[in-house]
Amino acid sequence: MIKFLNLSMQYQNIKSEIDETIQSVIDESAFIGGKYVRAFEENFAKYCEVPYCIGVANGTDALEIALESLNLPKGSEVIVPANSFIASSEAVTRQGLKVVFVDIDTQSYILSIDDITNKITKNTKVIMAVHLYGHSCDMDALAVLAKKHNLFIIEDCAQAHGAEYKNKKVGSFGDIATFSFYPGKNLGAYGDGGAITTNNEHLATKCRMIANHGRTDKYNHEFEGRNSRLDGLQAAILNVKLKYLPNWTEQRIQLANYYLDLLKDNENIILPIRKKWAKQVYHLFVIRTEQREALKLFLQEKGIQTGIHYPIALPKLNAYQYHQQAKEEMIANEYNGTLLSLPIGEHLTKKDIEIVVKNINLFFVE
Ligand SMILES: *Cc1c(COP(=O)(O)O)cnc(C)c1O
Repeated sequence: MIKFLNLSMQYQNIKSEIDETIQSVIDESAFIGGKYVRAFEENFAKYCEVPYCIGVANGTDALEIALESLNLPKGSEVIVPANSFIASSEAVTRQGLKVVFVDIDTQSYILSIDDITNKITKNTKVIMAVHLYGHSCDMDALAVLAKKHNLFIIEDCAQAHGAEYKNKKVGSFGDIATFSFYPGKNLGAYGDGGAITTNNEHLATKCRMIANHGRTDKYNHEFEGRNSRLDGLQAAILNVKLKYLPNWTEQRIQLANYYLDLLKDNENIILPIRKKWAKQVYHLFVIRTEQREALKLFLQEKGIQTGIHYPIALPKLNAYQYHQQAKEEMIANEYNGTLLSLPIGEHLTKKDIEIVVKNINLFFVE
């Protein structure tokens, strides 16, 4: 059996450290705020090469709070890639802002810079740079557009912990950036968790206040905020796992390179192309094939789990039937019928990759 994700195996490997830290949080009743949360925020800020990190309840909240902190006029337009998880666009609408979908890059499946240029209007205020599958967006090209049109950049780094653009960590480029620690992400908690990173002190203070009832201290509330906090248990667990993240990331990259090498001669599948600038952390390793459904089933019968990210482009979801772009022709629509995520992660070995590849090749021979 080759699993898509194996969190119980990961836990077994670091069990004593995790159990010990959980016990400490409970012994100290450090459930909300406190030293474990502060320590994780400091360590994660350092990891992302930024001065500020604010722990929040999940990656979707992180996006909502980041958008709220920018204080945009109602109806402002936010550019979001058509191929992403719905949280990217949901957060925009929930802030009373307007989602404008852009198409995908045909090689790496991140957002298309060309299509952004087509979609910028006088109401555009933000570009949401989703570093999809752990592949960074073209931050220099985005910076040029942002400067020219006076736009903010929010990085959605939910799939890209530790990814780099030109040797610099994602989460440190935009005005503000967001992370998810959903259990299956490259750095995952044992429940929900998220974070906001930024170089901007003002936005950092604003986000921290929004996430904690608009508070400056226990009894002073400057404005109405909300409750979205990373809790002590999750922070303590994340602190332990953060130490292992660089190694786990290297393993992902090596396994991805192994897939790329072993599959390069298979003419029935299209491999992802990594841009020169990217240190991709392969939250997902996504191939394309016209026979996606049949291949998925075949691999499943051989005990190999795969995933689809995402089967339907955002504008085609029922949730966006109201949207004027629901009927727009996009490359994303066509691609989303062919994408297949192969198993990848520190739970796998090169031998496992060989088995996956052998079975993919077998499928196309039969
Ligand atoms: C997982 C994910 C989110 C949402 O994170 P949650 O912690 O599940 O709320 C947002 N954006 C992208 C691209 C994601 O993959």
